[in-house]
Order: sequence, then C-alpha cells, then structure tokens
Amino acid sequence: MEISELVASKVVDVPDFPKPGILFKDLMPLFSDGPAFAAVIDAIIAEHGPDSFDVVAGIEARGFVIAAAIAYATGKGVVPVRKAGKLPRATVSASYALEYGEATLEVHEDAFVAGERVLVVDDVLATGGTAAATLSLVERAGGTVSGFSVLLELGFLDGRSRIAPRPVHALLTVS
Ligand code: AMP
Repeated sequence: MEISELVASKVVDVPDFPKPGILFKDLMPLFSDGPAFAAVIDAIIAEHGPDSFDVVAGIEARGFVIAAAIAYATGKGVVPVRKAGKLPRATVSASYALEYGEATLEVHEDAFVAGERVLVVDDVLATGGTAAATLSLVERAGGTVSGFSVLLELGFLDGRSRIAPRPVHALLTVS
C-alpha cells in the first residue's frame, strides 16, 4: 500500500470539533497501529535522509509523538515546541492565528546549538500559522531548519504559502 493510502485509511474525520465548521482530522488510529506508525516514521526519515538533520523539533502535542519516534530511530534528540507558559526557562515566543483560534508557541532560547540542523514535524498542516511560527522560532533560537514534514496537509487551506519558499513534505495532501 502506498504511504498516502495508508495515512488516508487511518484518518478519522470528526465534524464540528473543536468548533462548529471545523472538520477535525483525527490521526490517533494511525498512532495506535504499530506497523502503520512505524511505516509513517520510516517514510519521513527516508524523505529527508537520516543524515540531513541533527535534532527533531515536534510541535505540541501530536508533533511530540512523531518527533520522538524519528529521533529515537535515528539516534537524534528531541526539542519540544510548546504552548505558552509550559517551558520553565527563558524562551523565544511567537503568536499566530489558528484555523480554530489563536495561540502562542515557545521554545527554550538555548534549545539549539548555533547552526544545528532541525527537522520540524507535526501531524496536520492546516492554515500554516503554526508551522510559520515554529519555523521562525527555530531560527530565532539559533537553529537551521533542514526540513518540515507533516502526516497530512489540508491543501485547500494553502498553508504552504505561509511558509514559502520553504518546502513542506506531506505524506498525504487532501483537497
Ligand atoms: P494551522 O496553524 O492552521 O496550520 O494548524 C495546524 C495545527 O493545528 C496542527 O498542530 C494541527 O494538529 C492542528 N489542526 C489544525 N486544523 C486541524 C484539523 N482540521 N484537524 C486536525 N488538526 C488540526
């Protein structure tokens, strides 16, 4: 089965969550299926190449799951990009608009060694606000973004344009 078909087979559409009008893409069935989860982790590593990054940054909260698995499989470390107020030491932060609200993300200001190559991962790319804020945070904290991957891209929201000219790699894009 193609990886895009595998992701498609494991996404559950939840209408009107967390707000009316939002079609939530629930990827928990993909995370809880061992072989499927391993296949998507391996596909992301293969796309970028295991030697193309030094550390993996995951966006709270579902990005943590993906980042940790990639990091373990490649012998790299994990940096959590967290919602406001969760990190205990000095941070850099960015506020942005979500498909369903507003949010602030933070990363420790010393999270990266200068020039460290950072693979950024999340579950879903929607409007791209989360991704744009995260990529900017990684750079402001001294990292170099070496790649950005999501499991699922909502193509009709054109999140790609928010992070252009940076590329995004998606295992599945739905229109
Ligand atoms: P955005 O900033 O609009 O690209 O939103 C991306 C972030 O919000 C990701 O961390 C996703 O987990 C979450 N998200 C936004 N829209 C959805 C959706 N329709 N289904 C599932 N997760 C979503």
